[in-house]
Amino acid sequence: MVLARLSLSSVRAVLRSRDRAAQGAAALGIASFFPPLQVKLLVLQPTPFCNIDCTYCYLPNRASTERMSLPVVEAAIRNVIDAGLVSERLSIAWHAGEPLAAGLEFYRRAFACIDAIVAGRYPVRHSIQTNAMLIDQDWCDLFARHGVKVGVSVDGPAFIHDRNRRTRDGRGTHAKAMRGVGHLLRNAIPFHAIAVVTPVSLQHPDEIFRFFLAEGFREVGFNIDEREGERRHSTIGREHEHDFQRFLQRMLELSIAADGRLRIREVDEARKVILRGLESVRIGGKRHPHNAQVLPLEILSVDHAGNFSTFSPELLGQPSREHNDFVLGNVLEESVASVFSNPQFQSMYRHIAAGVERCRRECEYFELCGGGAPVNKLYENGSFASTETAYCRNVVMAPLRLMLASLEQSTQP
Ligand code: SF4
Repeated sequence: MVLARLSLSSVRAVLRSRDRAAQGAAALGIASFFPPLQVKLLVLQPTPFCNIDCTYCYLPNRASTERMSLPVVEAAIRNVIDAGLVSERLSIAWHAGEPLAAGLEFYRRAFACIDAIVAGRYPVRHSIQTNAMLIDQDWCDLFARHGVKVGVSVDGPAFIHDRNRRTRDGRGTHAKAMRGVGHLLRNAIPFHAIAVVTPVSLQHPDEIFRFFLAEGFREVGFNIDEREGERRHSTIGREHEHDFQRFLQRMLELSIAADGRLRIREVDEARKVILRGLESVRIGGKRHPHNAQVLPLEILSVDHAGNFSTFSPELLGQPSREHNDFVLGNVLEESVASVFSNPQFQSMYRHIAAGVERCRRECEYFELCGGGAPVNKLYENGSFASTETAYCRNVVMAPLRLMLASLEQSTQP
């Protein structure tokens, strides 16, 4: 027997190397993840169409009026449930283009269809990111009936917002957006703001803060104008990064002075991460700090035609010859769990995981970040297998530095 001729130590070495090989292969298997993989956020893109044309938009198909059909909605929901990828709750974000442009009737039917499939097995949480221009009483009735969490895209007062958030014929959209916000307020629908920051915003932190507070917002998140997808250049360069940190610092001061009546998403999240740390995930036995954007299927995006993708939700809808437009399958035709045997997915995941490993070796923020946003790595550095981006410096590192300094100060005698 061959085995009889091997020494005990060489047998152990063979078994160890087999274990390692198995672990490597299993790193791409759904069973290699602990806690087990779940779809934590299902992003449904009901239409690529947007009723306006912001200067910093990254969506290439925003003039297309195609719309998701009910069979696609049904297939997306059944698919994630049948694959055992939903446990405690089903969180659905309606995003991309202007989601309300899909029409009220579409949502009435889609929500009823989803409720019928879920049949009370777990709560369904809907959220929608909108420019608010179409919101009226009927929309508010729908939001109230289904507990929809509304995110409003508004950049601050009109003189800042209307510079970039314009109609196709160049008119500002602030007045209409604020009419929609008025409906939300009168109907007591909870909402928050997401504001895109450009160099002009950086000069007006006080006006921006006062605007959001006065208009009834209770939370605002700041996204920098990013280089991403169709948006090949950002107005925020290296030379603005110090100003962005000062902008956040001022927002924190104003929020404290207002007794927290307007919360700043970035500083809140940084505080949470510093005080609690990121959860742990084990992949093939190796520990990783949790980051939904680098874990397969935790964020699952489905477009109007049923094509699906995972990792950063901004990827689906972007053209890419190398990555097949980031499409990994179609919910009408295959199980989302089948991605693990898809070479397209394997290639994307290998590159993303390589980027995470580089972050682990090279970045002192890794334990508080978990490897960042693949979409920004790709569009800023040209590869998923890369590390630092402007997104990292502004949206991850700057708030963490700010909160570390603030917490240190508050614990000093
Ligand atoms: S901050 Fe950037 S470089 Fe650092 S771990 Fe996160 S993604 Fe990687």
